[in-house]
Amino acid sequence: MKLKTKKSEEEWLKKLTDQQFRVLRQKDTEAPFTGEYWNNHQKGIYRCAGCGATLFDSDTKFDSGTGWPSFSDPKVMENITTQEDTSLGMVRTEVLCKKCGGHLGHLFMDGPEPNHCRYCINSIALKFESDR
Ligand SMILES: [Zn+2]
Repeated sequence: MKLKTKKSEEEWLKKLTDQQFRVLRQKDTEAPFTGEYWNNHQKGIYRCAGCGATLFDSDTKFDSGTGWPSFSDPKVMENITTQEDTSLGMVRTEVLCKKCGGHLGHLFMDGPEPNHCRYCINSIALKFESDR
């Protein structure tokens, strides 16, 4: 993966909070119903907490009942990339920020019509920007 925003782990440690670092750089998952945005219903844009890339729009956010912010579509598809994740004995699709390689969450195919996508994203990996 060719990254536009490339930093050393040391630089990321300085830039991010401990919890952000664990999720974005070490692929940790925040506990459900604990993040800042799972229940956020404001209108606006969700950016990558690592590099600021525009990732999701509140228009595609829906209540999945999982305790994590869930989106049916990325706002800017080019800023998102996916790869197979076989950790924890499961085969899942990992969702990453294409610009900085930060781990965002996972993509599941149990979302709403018509495409059934559920981008299950850690709040801590996002930075919400109210625009309305
Ligand atoms: Zn990023």
